[in-house]
Amino acid sequence: MGEPKSKGIKKRPSSRLGGILDGYDPAKLVIATACSHSSLQIFHGARAEGIKTLGIAVGNEPKFYSAFPRARPDEFIVVDSWNEIPKLAGELRKRNAVIVPHGSFVEYLGATEFLKLNVPSFGNRKVLEWEADREKQRDWLRSAGVWVPKRFKPGEAIDRPVLVKFHGAKGGRGYFIAKNQDEFMEMEDRVQGKAVQIQEYILGTRYYLHFFHSPIKKDGYELSRGSLELLGMDRRDEANIDEMYKLGAQELLKKSGVLPTFVVTGNVPVVIRESLLPKVFDIGERVVERSYELFGGMTGPFCLETLVSDDLHITVFELSARIVAGTNVFISGSPYADFVEPGLSTGRRIAQEIKMARRMGRLPEILT
Ligand code: ATP
Repeated sequence: MGEPKSKGIKKRPSSRLGGILDGYDPAKLVIATACSHSSLQIFHGARAEGIKTLGIAVGNEPKFYSAFPRARPDEFIVVDSWNEIPKLAGELRKRNAVIVPHGSFVEYLGATEFLKLNVPSFGNRKVLEWEADREKQRDWLRSAGVWVPKRFKPGEAIDRPVLVKFHGAKGGRGYFIAKNQDEFMEMEDRVQGKAVQIQEYILGTRYYLHFFHSPIKKDGYELSRGSLELLGMDRRDEANIDEMYKLGAQELLKKSGVLPTFVVTGNVPVVIRESLLPKVFDIGERVVERSYELFGGMTGPFCLETLVSDDLHITVFELSARIVAGTNVFISGSPYADFVEPGLSTGRRIAQEIKMARRMGRLPEILT
């Protein structure tokens, strides 16, 4: 596995908000996001905390929200395509909107446009630069002292099972497993001319850890700034790898041209054995502390995608620096969030953080 590296120099957090917040009426903040991904949870959580909500939708007001009255946004803005979101900036600012970005929001808008969007956004947008680039993300995790899968250089002998990941592939599309050098050579034509990362395939069980880092809340599991909460854990259902065994052994399937895919189709709640919780928090803490040193801190919700091997070693293979769709299984709390506050979802926790920062006059520390 890729070994952890040592740490670097501390930098101060910074804000790109300029004077935008000066024009805002803090009492009238509105939580806005794109109608997709985890928006029901975000709107539901905001409503529970008494904050107004705004859903950004494409084409029409999505009808299905009326089936969920407690999670329906107070208002919609409808655009013809996601490309129009940058044009909405003035309108959003006029409405005192704070964007709560989720995975689809960033994907639909595009990372570059999201970085430029002149509307206050929950969390530190600088994290994108470190999250979106696989090499930088790897450096971040390793320099935090966290285990990551070993990476094979082009031409390096494959001495163990590997997962070949294509850059920019969403949801593991096109990824393939090669168990040894020969199998890798058989599949080599799929790699030719493409940007790939050849990663050690870790044989273990998957735990997607949902954390929340508040730079302003001091009680609980304290960090050098603020605190760290664990609000839940899920495992993704991935088609077709998760159900492939029903058709027989992968070897035979491969001969008939059936290759595993890792497309996320849903999520299931999980808990990790309790004796692993100290390691879980240690990993979360390291990743947050290092984020301050690298780019001023990853704040708010984030997810570490991990594999736990039979020697109970935890390896982080991916990081998502915002609310993940796996938190949707915990709208009414989780076996971990319930120890913080009964019925607490990540969406609600975001709304609480905004309220707390507003009360303390510290909004610039949680918005960028
Ligand atoms: P997303 O952006 O949706 O998270 P992605 O394209 O970044 O997906 P990964 O999350 O890196 O892809 O991987 C997709 C899936 O492949 C994981 O959910 C996991 O099941 C499996 N996987 C990834 N890396 C490894 C690894 N090193 N060893 C074993 N399985 C892995």
